[in-house]
Amino acid sequence: MPDGAAPPPTFFAGRRRRPGFWATRLAQAGEWLRRHQRAVRRLQWGVVGVYAVLLIGPNLIPLPGRAAHVWNDLTLFAQFIFWGIWWPGVLLSMLVFGRLWCGLLCPEGALSEAASRRGRGRAIPRWMRWPGWPFAAFVMTTIYGQFVSVYQYPGPALVILGGSTLAAIVVGYLYGRNHRVWCRYLCPVNGVFGLLAKLAPMHYGADMAAWARVAADQGRTTEVTCAPLVALRGLDSASPCHMCGRCAGFRDAIELRPRAPGSEVVRLGGQTATPWDSLLTITGLMGVAPAAFLWSASPWFIALKMWLATLLVNAGILWPLQTRLPWWLLTDYPGRNDVMTLLDGATLLIFILTAAAVLTLTIAAPLLAAARLLGPARDLRRFHHLALALLPLAACGVILGLSAQTVSLLHADGLRLLWVPEARATALAFSAAWSLLLLWQILGRYVSGVRRAAATIIGLAGILAGLAPWLLLFWVW
Ligand code: SF4
Repeated sequence: MPDGAAPPPTFFAGRRRRPGFWATRLAQAGEWLRRHQRAVRRLQWGVVGVYAVLLIGPNLIPLPGRAAHVWNDLTLFAQFIFWGIWWPGVLLSMLVFGRLWCGLLCPEGALSEAASRRGRGRAIPRWMRWPGWPFAAFVMTTIYGQFVSVYQYPGPALVILGGSTLAAIVVGYLYGRNHRVWCRYLCPVNGVFGLLAKLAPMHYGADMAAWARVAADQGRTTEVTCAPLVALRGLDSASPCHMCGRCAGFRDAIELRPRAPGSEVVRLGGQTATPWDSLLTITGLMGVAPAAFLWSASPWFIALKMWLATLLVNAGILWPLQTRLPWWLLTDYPGRNDVMTLLDGATLLIFILTAAAVLTLTIAAPLLAAARLLGPARDLRRFHHLALALLPLAACGVILGLSAQTVSLLHADGLRLLWVPEARATALAFSAAWSLLLLWQILGRYVSGVRRAAATIIGLAGILAGLAPWLLLFWVW
């Protein structure tokens, strides 16, 4: 629907019988959203305003002093909101509402779509459609964020988040018309959001019998512009859908529906899971992300750095221990006694890549063995399906890792938060149990009896390996 246009007339030719209270309420909520797109756009501009203040404001004032608190310093407040509330909240919302955040609140998506309305409307280039972007962009952003200490300083936050927003606007201006080409292909968290949305207990789905019936009656008289370019015919997966509601009721076939949490993973994963999904889940969310949270607390990082430093000193090569780079390449805040040398940067990179590789191997190997029980070793489709079972644990880990920043800030402000260890243990136990249940359900689609039980026990080793970095971070170190 073009910006500012009146909501379209209802697509429903007649109302079907709906199965239950929640299904009715959800379908009504979807239609309500479709009728209130103008209010949604106002809301989006409000979020854009808040986002701009929190992102740019801290860069206009000095860094906080020792006496600063979350409640009296804009920089600390913005840190608390972005990394403690905003991002963990957005990830959590994916598990509950699907990608509602993307369709209703994301400032980047809203700006990219707004630019696309007035842009050049060029065809989407082939390089942009490369399916590896979600993985590559997530990994590069995560590692770069550690190089520049994005959680601690407003400059790096502006470079990373603001740079991403600027790129979203440029891509929106150049490519597509009324679409979110950036969100669909290049957004660094598009892949993660798409994976987590598979667990959500609601989705927009198309009833193909109703679609065919109404298509025969109406022809192609009404159309819907789906901003993230989702094919509406046969709509089922929550992964690409931004839950904007614009297609609710289209051809009397599409509606917002409830479903069992995680059911998409079990039901559709066998046909839709790709190697890139497995890479993003295992290497990205359960390898690179935990490593990025672990390094600063790890005694192994210190030991590695000392070992490398000794090697260099013994070889008479001192410049890596002394060379600093600009703050937007490597953390450089001498006034706060927070400086990374080239040696620190290299150690950080080696640590993250090694930890990610070790975690990938220890998590993937049991799943490969479990998949081997289901069919030929060459056929990796079942492995990719099984890898989706790890999503609850992967999501929980990243949410807990991000919220550790909140806990640190609140600790620094004198709040004791004694319940945090128990809450973390409960969340990890619950998510690991959910992953195990999904594994059991997925395996049940291929085998039964003893082979199903044996494959589940083997796959459990992968889940336990996925728990290890969080146990180290929260309880051992
Ligand atoms: S399929 Fe597209 S139009 Fe429909 S709710 Fe999802 S994002 Fe919106």
